[in-house]
Amino acid sequence: MLTDTRFSSNAKVKPLGACDTELTEGFWKSVRDVVFDATVPQLENMFKAPEISHVVENFRICAGDSQGDFDGTVFGDGDFYKWMESAMYCALLRKDSELSARIDEYIDLIGRAQRPDGYISTKQIIGEMKKDGTSRMGDINDFEVYNFGHLMTAAALHYRLTGKDSLLKIASKAADYLENMYREALEKDQVQTAVCPSHYMGLIELYRATRDERYLKLARTAIELRDSVKNGLDDNQDRLPLKKHRKIIGHAVRANYLYAGLSDLYLEEGGDDYRAVLDSVWDDLLRHKIYITGGCGALYNGASPYGNFFKQQLVHQAYGYDYQLPNVTAYNETCANVGLVMWAYRMFLIEPKAEYFDVIERVMLNTNLASISLDGIRYFYENMLERVKNPGFDPVWPLHRTEYITSYCCPPNLARNLAQVSEYMYAVSKKAVYLGLYASSRAHIRLDSGFEGVIETKTDYPYGGTISFAFTDIETNGEIELNLRIPAWVKKGYVKVTGPDGEIKKPLDESKSASYYCLKIQDPSSTKAELFLDMPVRYTVGHDRIEEVRGRVCVERGPLVFCMEEQDAGKTALEKVMLPYEKASFTTEMISIKDREILTIRGNVFSKEGDDNEGDKLYRELKDVRFEKTDARFIPYFAWDNRGDDKDMRVYFPVCYGGVL
Ligand SMILES: [Zn+2]
Repeated sequence: MLTDTRFSSNAKVKPLGACDTELTEGFWKSVRDVVFDATVPQLENMFKAPEISHVVENFRICAGDSQGDFDGTVFGDGDFYKWMESAMYCALLRKDSELSARIDEYIDLIGRAQRPDGYISTKQIIGEMKKDGTSRMGDINDFEVYNFGHLMTAAALHYRLTGKDSLLKIASKAADYLENMYREALEKDQVQTAVCPSHYMGLIELYRATRDERYLKLARTAIELRDSVKNGLDDNQDRLPLKKHRKIIGHAVRANYLYAGLSDLYLEEGGDDYRAVLDSVWDDLLRHKIYITGGCGALYNGASPYGNFFKQQLVHQAYGYDYQLPNVTAYNETCANVGLVMWAYRMFLIEPKAEYFDVIERVMLNTNLASISLDGIRYFYENMLERVKNPGFDPVWPLHRTEYITSYCCPPNLARNLAQVSEYMYAVSKKAVYLGLYASSRAHIRLDSGFEGVIETKTDYPYGGTISFAFTDIETNGEIELNLRIPAWVKKGYVKVTGPDGEIKKPLDESKSASYYCLKIQDPSSTKAELFLDMPVRYTVGHDRIEEVRGRVCVERGPLVFCMEEQDAGKTALEKVMLPYEKASFTTEMISIKDREILTIRGNVFSKEGDDNEGDKLYRELKDVRFEKTDARFIPYFAWDNRGDDKDMRVYFPVCYGGVL
């Protein structure tokens, strides 16, 4: 249970326990197996190695187990806590007692690194030990509160997953430290906005785990105090008072963590003003600023579209202007995309609309899975939609996935997101079950209305559109409202129920898309259901205001975005590929990449010949062109950059309307 909303007064649905959902086979199980087998141990090695990240070594120095100076990033502590979340899930679900023992050792180490007053951030503690003048909470870019927040989230999960309160006690002491810090900041009128504020979510989860009202109050105070910050910036989302927010702006990780935390506060306390903020900002994101892959935060660097032009409005790793969605320079930090999943999930718990899970699915199946190599050991920090080998500038991060980068926030964030994927499959209300991500799985369900038993889901989704449901291990039979998510892309399908009254099949059309289809099942013990979602290859176009995709299409099939890499363009170069308006020749074909079976799309496309660039001349007169046929292949966006050298890649292609193949 990532967010325990069982007692949250404004939650319409609640999650299942972590062990209530078991992945049995198929796509998501294979992803999670790679994360458990490869990613979790690889990240542990990176955090343990003093010569690489130095993170565990920093804790050891603080605890007196080692001598030396602080090294690594100031946010390394928080990133380690994120890894601990992924390790806890791995240890629990794999019944890995050795990993459990190591987690206990890390908790012991963190406890000994913590100061008696509850403070825990290694750079400052080592600075104090060495009396080098390092001060606490002097610079928001030291990420101390971010470190605290991730500790609290990890601690609440650890308590729920293991029943042990060892990490919870450490996190509670840290929260007590924050309580004093906010009181003093208020007295001195020196309030700061923490960057990447993970502590709103962290404090509220700590409250949910301990039921200590002080932590809920502290979260509310921390959120309200944002308005007391002097000289706020759009980059930090603190130029405007929070209740006036209507647009999504600034640093995307900061924004998504803020609104995820605000959603948590709303789940506990309500408040129309905050609900208006959440709904408006969410709407702005979906209408103007999200990529087709689910990536968000388009800009490396830029200027805020809002506020006073003459005052400092620089933003970084940020949302930009409406429709400003470049492909080659798409930033889309992995942490922002993970943050969006956390925010969308909390919005779903407030109001279980299919739209929220459509976003979670789009993000997780496309940009999040693209952030990690198929073998689970290399990562993207930024998630471009087009790669050109020589972009003409030095990007901040490599153009290909790497095992380690200095800023190591994204890999453990992604690891916990994927390790916890089974949490995103089912949610329940008093008498209903809601399907989130579709995956072959068994979920133990207990409804207040009476039913208790297992829902068994079988599917080859996202490659196939048939999803079947059966009810087994029934302890108490009773009516279930089974809410089937019909994604926004669905135009055709059916719902079939086989029960005491025989077989009933109801067609689905576009009017049912982007909504939940409520199936009332009177007698689960003798009923089976099947959902079929037709998945033809489709072309998706962007709003005409997105300059970089105007006149181009993206190939999609079901929930997956496809791309083309240079080596799959047949006889031609990627920049010459144009897609036929009629795509009748497109077929699907499974291929193996890095030992994973990947569904690809093959078919004839055009190669545009005769109108090439003239050196580096910026403009030229259009020359006569001719179109030649070539056989090409599209692979899922998540599978790109897994086959050797850096090759060009594109998601969007121009369409050839008049050509005949
Ligand atoms: Zn990151």
